[in-house]
Amino acid sequence: MECMVGWIRKKKNFLLFKNRDSKREHLKTNVFVKDDTMACVIYTNRKGCWAGVNKYGIGFVSAKGPYRIIPKNHSSWKRFNEIGETVLKQANTLIEAKELFLKIYKNHKIGESANVLLCDKNRAYLLELCLDKIDTKLYSDHVFKTNHFELLDSLNSAFKEAQLETSKVRLKKFEELFEKSDIEQGKDLISLLTHHSERKNENICRHESIIMTVGSVVFDSSDRKTCAYYNINKSPCGGIFKKEIISFAT
Ligand SMILES: [Zn+2]
Repeated sequence: MECMVGWIRKKKNFLLFKNRDSKREHLKTNVFVKDDTMACVIYTNRKGCWAGVNKYGIGFVSAKGPYRIIPKNHSSWKRFNEIGETVLKQANTLIEAKELFLKIYKNHKIGESANVLLCDKNRAYLLELCLDKIDTKLYSDHVFKTNHFELLDSLNSAFKEAQLETSKVRLKKFEELFEKSDIEQGKDLISLLTHHSERKNENICRHESIIMTVGSVVFDSSDRKTCAYYNINKSPCGGIFKKEIISFAT
């Protein structure tokens, strides 16, 4: 519920990642799945994926936004990840992915709010979504997000002050680590996603928090292949990331 996501463009590939933060009881609820058309991390107890890439090189990740109220007759935040999975199953291009995501979102009553990244190897769309408010921004180099909004920033006032502070501090720390690093491949991100600081709210791996990091995944995707690095059902620092090479059917 306090996740961190990001996208980085490289010369021939892109990197897409997520640290999923949730309650401790959600430590055993992540499953990495792949088939001929997509690879993603799903929940065992509900529909939807929280990070994934499809055979057309389209990627999706999500992080909860600052507004956390579910109005009557609206579904909860998890519906965003169901849309993400549908988009990965159906979209062949980034524009298609963005349009399909927004079309489904507008046709359903979904409460709370989300930061969604949809990407291909050249660009990433940030979608900030909260009830009837939608804003989007296109990035061509890199983008990182925690939970506060950048575009719909007036809605950050819906966040508890401490949560807003942590979201901003964690994002700033990640950006600092990124600037100091030489990230070329997916595996290079692991040291950032497992990072602990002296100041607790700067932690990228939040294994000590009540809302803790319960899983981490990086997709490194090019035209030829996709590599996934994942450490799910543990905090990122608590074990070795598994590497999986995915060749989609053509
Ligand atoms: Zn840790």
